[in-house]
Amino acid sequence: MINMVIDGKKVKVSRDSTVLEAAKQVGIDIPALCYDKNLEIVAACRLCVVEIDGKNKLETSCSTKVREGMNVNTHSEKIDTVRKDVLQLLLDSHPNDCLTCQKAGECLLQKYAYEYDVNFVKHDGAMRPHLVDTSSPYILKDDSKCILCGKCVRTCSEVAERQVLAFADRGYDTRIVLDADQTLETSSCVSCNRCVTVCPVGALIDKRTLGKVRSWEGEKQVVKCKSCQYGCNFEVIKNRGKNIAVKAMEPTEGRPLCLRGRLTTEFINVDKPEKPFRKIDGKFEETSWTKALGLEEVMEKMELLKEDE
Ligand code: SF4
Ligand code: SF4
Ligand code: SF4
Repeated sequence: MINMVIDGKKVKVSRDSTVLEAAKQVGIDIPALCYDKNLEIVAACRLCVVEIDGKNKLETSCSTKVREGMNVNTHSEKIDTVRKDVLQLLLDSHPNDCLTCQKAGECLLQKYAYEYDVNFVKHDGAMRPHLVDTSSPYILKDDSKCILCGKCVRTCSEVAERQVLAFADRGYDTRIVLDADQTLETSSCVSCNRCVTVCPVGALIDKRTLGKVRSWEGEKQVVKCKSCQYGCNFEVIKNRGKNIAVKAMEPTEGRPLCLRGRLTTEFINVDKPEKPFRKIDGKFEETSWTKALGLEEVMEKMELLKEDE
C-alpha cells in the first residue's frame, strides 16, 4: 500500500494501481469511456484527466500509476472544461436518438452528458455516417453511434482465434470494421457478443433484447453459464414476472464468451426463447435448438438407447 491524497483526503491504496483505480478504491468515480479494467489501456478518450501536483498539464488517470505522497485532484474548473469539451465534440456528431435507443439508461455517453450538463447541439457540420449493419440475428451495429473508444477491437482480439474487429480509414472517416470491411453475417464473427457487452454506447446492441424492455424497467438476475468450465456470467432480464431475454455480461480474463453458452443460458432461462440461428458458409440460417446447442449426437444416442430398452 502507499499513502496519497485524492481530492484533499489522505488515503491508502494499492501501490500497483493507476490513479483511476486508486480513486475507485476510495469511492471516487472518474469518468472514462475507453477504459476497461480487463483490457489494455489506451488513454484515448481523455475524459479521465486529473490534476497532479508537480505536473504542468492534465494527466490521464487511467494510464498514470500512483506513487507515495502523490496529490491528485479529480475535479476542478479546468478539468470540467476539458471533460465538457470532449463530450461536446462527441455529441456534435452523434444522433440525437436517446428517446428510442436501446442503450438509453445504461449508456455512458448519456450518463456523462447528464452529469456534465452537455447537450446535443443542432449544427450544420458533418455527422458520422448512418451505416447500420442488420445482417446478424444476434447483433446490431450502428456506426453513427460509435465513439471510437476501441473497446470492441481490444476485447475481440483478446481471444487469439477471433480478432475480427479493427479500425479502418483515417481521421473523421475512421470507423470500426469486421475483417476486410465485411458484414456481421459475411465476416468471421462468431456472435460471441464480447464486443457488445463492452460497448459503452448504442453502437453495438444485443438484437435479442432489442425492443423488449427499457434498461430501467427490467429486473436482472446474474446466472452462470453451465456449458463449460469457464462459467461466464450472464444476466437474465425479467419484466412483469417473465424471463424475457439473456444478456452476456463483461468477459473477464480467461473467459472467452461464446454463442453456444449464451444460447444454452437463454434456452434454460427464458420463458419463450426466440428461434436460434447458425452461420453456415457465411449465411445465417434458422435452426433447431438441438442443432444450435450441438446436441444432435447426444439426442441420436439417446434415441438408440431408448430403442434398446
Ligand atoms: S448511444 Fe447513448 S447517447 Fe447515443 S443515442 Fe444511444 S443512449 Fe443516446
Ligand atoms: S461478436 Fe465476438 S467474434 Fe464477433 S466481432 Fe464481437 S467480439 Fe468479435
Ligand atoms: S462500437 Fe462501441 S466499443 Fe466499438 S469503438 Fe464504437 S463505441 Fe467503442
